[in-house]
Amino acid sequence: MKNFSFANRIQNINKMKSQDFDLVIIGGGINGAGVARDASARGMRVALIEARDFASGTSSKSSKLIHGGIRYLENMEFKLVFEALNERGRLFEMAPHLVHPLRFMIPLYQESRVGMGKMGLGMWLYDALSLFQAPEMHERLNAKASIEHMPAIRPNNLLGSYIYSDAYMDDDRLVHETMRSANENGALCVNYVKATGVNFGPDGKIQSVKCEDQHSKENFTVKARHVISSVGPWTDELGESIFKDWKKILRPTKGIHLTLPKHRLPLTSAVVMGAEKSDRIVFGIPRHEMIIIGTTDTDFKESPENVTTTPEDVKYLLSITDHYFPGANLTAHDIIASYAGVRPLVADGSSTEGKTSREHTILSDDRGITFVAGGKYTTYRLMCEQTVKAALKFFTFEERVTWSKSNTVTPLNPYTSVDAFQQAKVQADVWAHETGHSVEDMRLLAERYGMEGEEILNKYSSDMTYWQLEAAQAIDSTMCLHMRDFFARRVPLFLADRNHGVKHMEEIGTVFQEKLGWNEARLKEELHMLTEYMAREVEWKKHF
Ligand SMILES: Cc1cc2nc3c(=O)[nH]c(=O)nc-3n(C[C@H](O)[C@H](O)[C@H](O)COP(=O)(O)OP(=O)(O)OC[C@H]3O[C@@H](n4cnc5c(N)ncnc54)[C@H](O)[C@@H]3O)c2cc1C
Repeated sequence: MKNFSFANRIQNINKMKSQDFDLVIIGGGINGAGVARDASARGMRVALIEARDFASGTSSKSSKLIHGGIRYLENMEFKLVFEALNERGRLFEMAPHLVHPLRFMIPLYQESRVGMGKMGLGMWLYDALSLFQAPEMHERLNAKASIEHMPAIRPNNLLGSYIYSDAYMDDDRLVHETMRSANENGALCVNYVKATGVNFGPDGKIQSVKCEDQHSKENFTVKARHVISSVGPWTDELGESIFKDWKKILRPTKGIHLTLPKHRLPLTSAVVMGAEKSDRIVFGIPRHEMIIIGTTDTDFKESPENVTTTPEDVKYLLSITDHYFPGANLTAHDIIASYAGVRPLVADGSSTEGKTSREHTILSDDRGITFVAGGKYTTYRLMCEQTVKAALKFFTFEERVTWSKSNTVTPLNPYTSVDAFQQAKVQADVWAHETGHSVEDMRLLAERYGMEGEEILNKYSSDMTYWQLEAAQAIDSTMCLHMRDFFARRVPLFLADRNHGVKHMEEIGTVFQEKLGWNEARLKEELHMLTEYMAREVEWKKHF
């Protein structure tokens, strides 16, 4: 695949200053990336600007599930669940290296808000809405079988449980792979460029987007025939900066997650835990590299940049987990890391955060901009297709015909089609034999990159360590510009390693230094930024 690096960023910015674009997309989370991929695959000339790192907003702060959302059945959001389950099936094919099937257990107790009968109906409906295409159908277990399935679960008052299928994923990497695919189609995407406003023409229509390069502080404009806003929880902030008559559309809510080493909570499948006295649920999710517990759902009125995990958030999640797994004796000291994000929910007048719909909204304004907000990660592909369709109304009849076909159900990366991914798993041991890397590292490379692993091994020096290969690939192929962005959103070192990958900082630093031409002072500054980021993310630890 084409390079997508620091050098490409400079080239792309230069082209943005001089060329005209059919679409200028503001925001590089999953929706911005998805719109860029969809529109560029249709043949449109596309530019995308992201104010920070790609995926640094909500798109790296999710529960990392590709799911229909069993909970939304209670809110009667059948359309959303149906679409999400359908998209789940597609994503297994589009990105098998990022989306993995996972079994979930819902344990039900005498005191649970929902009984076995009602939950059973929900389970049938869930399987039916997936058109019975789930990796495995649901099962009903009695109390004894439930304990056999999950020996660590609290046995007192347990009535039984249901086991059903959904999936977990790498949310940040899904953005990077979608962005790479857009880059492959010819979209010009750059990070660390902020949209600061728009210029209107004499007809009152938007002509261009005002941009500020967050590194050089240079201001420039990008000519746009139509603009897409995919800024998630920043939608009202951007709307207000463009239109004096903007009416707020969001009800942002905060959600946090905790990560744990796998041995501290022996989960045999994911588990759905009900919060007492509310309709909230909390997931315990066992992944390849860690366990995630989350999430919370509380109204959040500040700017999304300010979202952090508080000691109260941590206590809340620990208390629910303790209620279900008292034998684990989890404490705050077991937690490796945490992350906090803001849901860009669309305000619908609901009484509580939990009842607010997870549906998305697409709003077009005749002055030349389409806003997409809300929705689920799981349905991003469909949402982005609908967004491009809405934007096409602003183009000529001939153009609408030329660009009518969306072409986004193909694999995000040809090296990770279902077949290529399987082939890589077989090849991993051969790579180890041929290169001298450990079998364990090569299996990890195959899991994360499919057959692109072979490309990576051919591209970079055989002297490089595993984490150096990862760093080189991130810099050259995902426009990774800072060490902080690498540790936080390219590899799971910050979230899953007990010491946040600190012991690899030096070896990784040398790759950044060499590839990005940093002197010693710059490297020091980057290391400082990284440690500051880590400290801020887990500042709540001081309270325990
Ligand atoms: C706690 C939590 C858990 C969730 N769990 C799940 C889940 O398990 N499964 C699921 O399907 N969904 C889940 N979601 C929902 C999902 O994560 C979001 O719907 C999705 O990530 C939103 O993506 P986005 O691209 O719209 O927004 P974002 O990812 O926030 O992207 C917006 C981007 O716009 C950029 N930006 C803002 N202003 C500007 C500007 N002026 N110029 C340029 N760029 C700008 C920001 O920097 C940001 O990167 C969860 C959400 C939360 C908060």
